[in-house]
Amino acid sequence: MIKVQNYIDGKFCEAQNGKTLDIVEPATGNIFGTMPDSGSEDVDRAVQAGKRAFKEWKNISGEKRMDYLMKIAEGIERHFEEFAKMESQDTGKPLSLARKVDIPRAIANFRFFAGAAWHFSSESHSMPEAVNFTLRQPLGVVGCISPWNLPIYLLSWKVAPALAAGNCVVAKPSEVTPCTAWLLARVCDEAGLPHGVLNIVHGVGNEAGRSLVEHPDIKAISFTGGTATGKQIAAAAAPMFKKLSLELGGKNPTIVFADCDLDSTVDEVIRASFTNQGEICLCGSRIFIEEKIFEQFKEAFIYKTRQLKVGDPLENDTHIGAIVSAQHQQKILHYIQLGAQEGGRILFGGKKINVIGRCASGYFIEPTVFEGLSPECRTMQEEIFGPVVTLTPFTNEQEAIELANNCSYGLSCSIWTKNLQRAMYMANHIEAGVVWINCWLLRDLRTPFGGVKQSGVGREGGWEAMRFFTETKNVCMKY
Ligand code: NAD
Repeated sequence: MIKVQNYIDGKFCEAQNGKTLDIVEPATGNIFGTMPDSGSEDVDRAVQAGKRAFKEWKNISGEKRMDYLMKIAEGIERHFEEFAKMESQDTGKPLSLARKVDIPRAIANFRFFAGAAWHFSSESHSMPEAVNFTLRQPLGVVGCISPWNLPIYLLSWKVAPALAAGNCVVAKPSEVTPCTAWLLARVCDEAGLPHGVLNIVHGVGNEAGRSLVEHPDIKAISFTGGTATGKQIAAAAAPMFKKLSLELGGKNPTIVFADCDLDSTVDEVIRASFTNQGEICLCGSRIFIEEKIFEQFKEAFIYKTRQLKVGDPLENDTHIGAIVSAQHQQKILHYIQLGAQEGGRILFGGKKINVIGRCASGYFIEPTVFEGLSPECRTMQEEIFGPVVTLTPFTNEQEAIELANNCSYGLSCSIWTKNLQRAMYMANHIEAGVVWINCWLLRDLRTPFGGVKQSGVGREGGWEAMRFFTETKNVCMKY
């Protein structure tokens, strides 16, 4: 059993109310630890610690901040296996995926923003009799709230730029997956990060999360999570004029043209559909296929989906691990039932899986493929956030654009074609913050990342993140 603790002012501690929550391993259904169920008093202590630390942290050089962030990256690297195993145990994702994606990315996030801390600069605008220069100053203490699907990957994506820009942070990781945030606190401690610069408070959204958003001394909130939660946060933060970055849900289109390279496209579309059990905001769950190749694509897609192994996340050949919780498994199964009621034909999957052995009580679902659904139905409009996709034919570019944009979300889109003229036309007309052409989830950390419509407001990544975490002040000096 592990005991996750809060990290406040450089000390590991329980919630002041003494309450705890169980931590469940989704692959087995077993409780393997406890975590603090913190309240507003813990959040306030963390904010006060951040405010004290900010007095020094804001004044140290970018180069020095870079050194700290580099040390944190090295610390994660030193404990790589521990991080990977804990991320897999906590989320149900294959250990191989945590080793390949989650942990390397957390390290890269700290390295990338370590560089940014040193390189960050601002503009100047000269006039004949004066010069304007722009200061980009840290905000103070900021809140970072993250979800369960990519726990350390997304937490570090927020914490690293916030610290790099000179802020102190109170982070609230998902109560569903608190473990790697706790390991991160240990790494920061080892790295000698000054006390109070990063504080991590564990607890549920409605209590610890809400207190953080409502705290008058929190200057900005960087949030990744569901659209409904994002709305609540926006409503609470707006009257206090806090800076907000909201990375929310998605229901992303994958558009396959007849002139794509079929073999590699099928492989990549499968990856976009089912990686991390389909629990990535960027997964392509609405697959639109040009009619001419619909049957051929469908056959190849089903053939390859059939070969995916669902099972114990610890086994090397597992492609799809456990769904993050019993509750989320129920939600996905409910949507599969709904899809059938709405007239969809299940071409593959559709059921829970009982894995034998160690994982007999785990939360597994078959990769599930629908066809024949109307684009207006709930199954094709609402975010399922699981291994469930729909196949729909289209006849021309215009129809593909209409189908893709016929959704309240607008996070990402992938387009598969050899015709670059067409690809560019599509990219111009798709309502999404991120468009991939002949690839999916190919990330350069310098690029702006975020969604439109119900998928959020604001952009993360590169200088966008550094600008978000700073206040802009123009100084006009006449001479
Ligand atoms: P969630 O909204 O339930 O929770 C996210 C975080 O917000 C958690 O830490 C939670 O405790 C906290 N929270 C909940 N209510 C709160 C409140 N009222 N005030 C403050 N904090 C609160 O989301 P989830 O179920 O953890 O994650 C899945 C969702 O996240 C999906 O919709 C997915 O698309 C989205 N997501 C988006 C991106 C992106 O980059 N756009 C990336 C990953 C996940």
